[in-house]
Order: sequence, then structure tokens, then C-alpha cells
Amino acid sequence: MSFTRVAFLLAVMTGLFLTVGYMIGGPGGMIIALLIALGMNFFAYWNSDKVVLSMHGARAVTERDAPQLVGLVRGLAARADLPMPRVYIIDTPQPNAFATGRDPNNAAVAATTGLLSMMTREQVAGVMAHELAHVKHRDTLTMTITATIAGAIGMLANFAFFFGGNRDTPLGGLGAILVAILAPLAAMIVQMAISRHNEYNADAEGARICGNPHWLADALERLEQGARRIDNHAAERNPATAHLFIVNPLHAHKHDSLFSTHPATANRVRALREMAAAGGGVGGGGGAGAGGRSPSRIPPSGGARVGRRRGPWG
Ligand SMILES: [Zn+2]
Repeated sequence: MSFTRVAFLLAVMTGLFLTVGYMIGGPGGMIIALLIALGMNFFAYWNSDKVVLSMHGARAVTERDAPQLVGLVRGLAARADLPMPRVYIIDTPQPNAFATGRDPNNAAVAATTGLLSMMTREQVAGVMAHELAHVKHRDTLTMTITATIAGAIGMLANFAFFFGGNRDTPLGGLGAILVAILAPLAAMIVQMAISRHNEYNADAEGARICGNPHWLADALERLEQGARRIDNHAAERNPATAHLFIVNPLHAHKHDSLFSTHPATANRVRALREMAAAGGGVGGGGGAGAGGRSPSRIPPSGGARVGRRRGPWG
């Protein structure tokens, strides 16, 4: 995403935040909100990746904890000409993944345990390649900063809901109601502003990185089914971060297509299949899978870990 676009997005988010501040506390509230917004934008630039990762309970893994996943990402990063990102695992049965970080030198990719247990090695490679494409396109800065600010707006809305009845505020109880309406609206603006085209671009680039568009297409089909069927509680608690994920982590019934943060999976799969048919992106998949058509699985972290059994990733 271009610099102007990033700046515009941040300005819109900040303006929204100021409006919410005004409705809670009048001009004084707006000034306090402005100071908070300035501090928050500064904080978000440096820390939004950590915030998002902790919201989802992501834990860092090394070559020792998850040799297969970390090795896979290492190979893909080399193919993409990117520095090795930090790798995280999120303990949730819903298959999903996201990337974050302010630039390629400070990037992180996260995969859920559901993704790793449900997908073949080739499909995981397709998904992680899509996430590395976001890193390469520098979508991650915009995505994480907007998520942080949208999350703060949501928190302020909750605050207004409980304390907004204060008679000293210009709108009093009405302000609280307006704020409660504004918060989801703000989330919607974030979802719309983060162009769905970013997803298509990351799909195409991801297919080139992993070397086989079918891997990502197969993964998207499975992801779609899994995300619809299995709830992601951390994502439901932090809906402002939903757009970070490769497929919408929120329960499908809550979102109609008009307000969806993600393009229809069927369209994404079709674009990838067409890319494969045209011979695009097929480069042997050197760094990624074991090669060949036989599906292989990424075994649980630590390989054959003996002893305590606390789910596949210990
Ligand atoms: Zn994506």
C-alpha cells in the first residue's frame, strides 16, 4: 500500500477516535482523545504487532519447538527474498493464519494449530506464502495499525456504554448510544479501507512464492470450511483484527457479503486455478513442499514429543 494511502487511513481512524472522544467528554474529551490518539499512533507503529499477537494468544516458536513449520517458512522467505520473519503458533482449532509487523525486517507470521493439524504440508506452504506476500507488499503495517486503532475505538465505545450517561457531556446518554453505533461503523470503515484487492494480490504473489497456485487454492477451500465450522473466540473478542486473517475468522452468519472484509473464497480459488492453468507461478515449489503430489503432513511441534499430551502442539 502506498504511503499516502496509509497516511489517509490513519487520519480517518484518528478523526473517528476524536469524534468518539468529543461525544463522551465534549471539547475537553476531544483534546484528551487527541493526545491519546497521537500517543497511540506512535505506540502502534512500534508495537501493534505485539498487541495483535498477544490478543490472539500467539506464542513464538523456534526451529526447536516447531522444526517443520519454521523450516518451511525459512525456505519460503528465501524464495521470496525476504528476511526470516518471527514465527508464531496460535492455539485454536480454527484453521487460519495472519502476518504482522511494521516492515519486512520486523515481520511475524502466525499459524493456528487448527491450520497445522488440518492441512497438508503443501497447503500450509501456500498459506504461509500468502502471508509472506503481505509482508513483501508491506500490507502488514497498515493492517496492524488500523487493527490497533479500531480496537481502541471499540474499547472507548464500551467505556461510553457504561459511563456515557454523564450529564456533563454534550450529548449525555444519547452520546453513549451514538458511540455504540459508531464503533461497529469504524470497524466497517477499516474493513472497507483495507482493500480486498490486497487479498487477491497476496494470493497471486503467494502462489509465485510457493511455486504452485493449486496449493493455496486447495488450502483456501479447506480454510473456508474450517473457519465456518469452528469458532475462533479470540477473534470474536477482537473483531477489529478480523481483516488480518487469511480467511474471515468470524462466524459466517454475522456477516453478509456486503460488509465482508474478505473477498469470496470461491473467487479467490478461481483466480488461483486460472493462474495455474495459464502456467503462472508454477516454479517447482523448491523451497516449500516435499515435491510430488503425495500429500505430506507437518507433524506436531517437537516431532515425537514423549510424555504430557496437551493437544498436538504441547
Ligand atoms: Zn491475506
